Amino acid sequence: MSRSVIATNIGYPQLDGKREWKRVLESYWKEDLSATELYDKLEELKVDRLKKQEKAGIHYVPVNDFTYYDRMLDVAWMFNLIPARHQHTSESSLRNYFSMARGEQTAEACAMKKWFNTNYHYIVPEWEGQELSLIKNMPLAAWKEAKEAGISNPKPTLVGPFTFAYFSKGFTSVSEALETVLPLYKQMIEELDTAGVEWLQIEEPALVVGEAAPFLKEVHEAYSALRTAAPRMKLFIQTYYEALVDFDTCMAFPVDGWGLDLTSQRALAQLTSGKFPDDKVLGAGIITGDNIWRAHTKEKASYLQAVLEKINVNEVWVQPTTSLLHVPETKTHETRLPAELYDRLSFADEKLTEVVEVTEALKEGQAADQDTLATYLAQDPVPSVFKDIQTHRGTSFEKRQEKQQAFNLPLLPTTTIGSLPQTTEVRKLRRDWKRGDLSTERYEEEVRGHIKKWVQEQEELGLDVLVHGEFERNDMVEFFGEKLDGFAFTDFGWVQSYGSRGVKPPIIHSDVKRPQAMTVEETVYAQSLTEQPLKGMLTGPVTIVNWSFVRSDQPKADTAAQVAEALAEEVLDLEKAGISMIQIDEPAFKEGYPLKKEDRPAYEDWAVKTFQRTHRDVKDETQIHTHMCYSEFQDILPAIGAMDADVISIEASKSGGDILAGFEDGQHVNEVGLGVYDIHSPRIPDVDEMESMLNRCLTYLPVEVFWVNPDCGLKTRSEKEVRESLAAMVQAAKRVRASVQVKQS
Ligand code: GLN
Ligand code: ZN
Repeated sequence: MSRSVIATNIGYPQLDGKREWKRVLESYWKEDLSATELYDKLEELKVDRLKKQEKAGIHYVPVNDFTYYDRMLDVAWMFNLIPARHQHTSESSLRNYFSMARGEQTAEACAMKKWFNTNYHYIVPEWEGQELSLIKNMPLAAWKEAKEAGISNPKPTLVGPFTFAYFSKGFTSVSEALETVLPLYKQMIEELDTAGVEWLQIEEPALVVGEAAPFLKEVHEAYSALRTAAPRMKLFIQTYYEALVDFDTCMAFPVDGWGLDLTSQRALAQLTSGKFPDDKVLGAGIITGDNIWRAHTKEKASYLQAVLEKINVNEVWVQPTTSLLHVPETKTHETRLPAELYDRLSFADEKLTEVVEVTEALKEGQAADQDTLATYLAQDPVPSVFKDIQTHRGTSFEKRQEKQQAFNLPLLPTTTIGSLPQTTEVRKLRRDWKRGDLSTERYEEEVRGHIKKWVQEQEELGLDVLVHGEFERNDMVEFFGEKLDGFAFTDFGWVQSYGSRGVKPPIIHSDVKRPQAMTVEETVYAQSLTEQPLKGMLTGPVTIVNWSFVRSDQPKADTAAQVAEALAEEVLDLEKAGISMIQIDEPAFKEGYPLKKEDRPAYEDWAVKTFQRTHRDVKDETQIHTHMCYSEFQDILPAIGAMDADVISIEASKSGGDILAGFEDGQHVNEVGLGVYDIHSPRIPDVDEMESMLNRCLTYLPVEVFWVNPDCGLKTRSEKEVRESLAAMVQAAKRVRASVQVKQS
């Protein structure tokens, strides 16, 4: 059978390695650029990217993936789905767009949320019942611009109606949202059809989540309506991150092609079960779009050949598994990586070359590698870490708690989460030292100065358990990564986190080991300055792997297990040096949860065990803390309990303590640090407010289990804000303490 094979791309990264895009945007925000200049400069960047993709050999080049901030926001804005507080001008100008994204003095920004289980955040569309209208057909404009720029086969792409509806708020239901936005999608698609667009890529990643199942009938109807609106144009639904929630039902949608992630074992099983309709184009996601390792393209081609022999398709698009949004632009800027590692890497541009290579190899005809396919399909996806090895502490919490009475803390002990203000001075200090402008000796002395100042401040504020302040750390993962073997850092490996903000995730490329102690010196120094207990501060294994690019030659769980071993050594070193409270932060514990419910137990198994392993061998008297900063815990409470930290501090201020309802009905819990105020706001918290929140918490659980602390670290706040806020917090704790003691006596 002759089959056409075409190289395509789904989406190109927003943030370039040199961060030109970011600079342009931020200059506009600072009013250093006019709107016209902004438009011209971004247009230039955009066209460059399109040409680059076409030159690499990509046939259908995605357009309209390029955004000024976020692609969910793009859709909201073009449908005039703009909250009243952001309607600064009657026409839907750029000002309204950025007002939604970033807020203005009088208008709080729209909410931002995590995009699936990635580290990208989107702007949440907010409907207030207003009349919607299509104020700009963005995919059409992008398509025309690309045509004018000489791109042969631009393929407009946009977030699809179901995914958009699914993540919008203000509607009474997803169904209402879908019904409301559908006419706008129809109008937009009709215009694209009339203009002569060949293919439209509609991104519907929400079709992979379990919660999508009840809506499939409505989604089918929505696509029938779109089909009628665009009788000529071909519609291609792109999914990613996981397998479709219901393959057979989705395959009946009246569309012309489906993009699937063929590296997902589940998606592959669905596809090779033989139900893929032979009249549709298969978008074969074969080059991993969200990790940075080079692919063996001949092997990929043989493997894809094996998949294709199991189904009947006439046209195959070879493509990445996801938009390339999650990887950096190109590795060619990196000049300081070891050659051997550099060679193993593949960022967005290199991945496009791989897509083209697989396409070429497939066209040449490759022997099908049925064996690899069969092995892959047969593999048990559940990794087993620490198989039969004990990971948990030998003694029960109750026994430990008894021994930990020796700390002699008051009821409702007060503490903070770890970091203290990273002033310009502190940041300059680290920068100068990194650049070599400051000797290590001087640097360490200066850091000690900050520690000393703040140990005193904390004592004066009346806090019960102190911290050293993390002045020597810029990022909680990078700091440890730099001290551990097996990690590498890029100079230009930026990945968009939200808006113009990027992160540069570390790369874990080989076995993780701890050559020497990482935090003992500063911690011991800080503890030497005070009689009060001071917490050692570590980043947990789950967070370290979830915020890094991990090896693909072993399960993520195994990498986490190595990190855990290294941290366990650090924990014991701290203990040996006399540090008797150690906090192991896991702010990324929750975001690592797999999208499919059925995969969650396996994740929890390795995540909990790796965390347990870090503190397995400490003495009963040593108190282990952990910290997580989000309020939606309810469904992960058993896992949190199983981590078995003696104290866990959690975000509680936004939910006003309601989060404790889950603990009430018998869920196992040790001690709980209540995050009583939001550190993301410059507002000084109100003593009465914190007091009543604490009192409410006491109605759920006995006073003995609670600690009092801010929601998260204080590094982004000013020194003045921190002083005033902590003083208020300590006061609130004292008031509640006094009233409890009155009741108890
Ligand atoms: N200990 C870290 C800090 O205080 C925790 C940061 C976090 O939870 N993201 O900054
Ligand atoms: Zn936090």
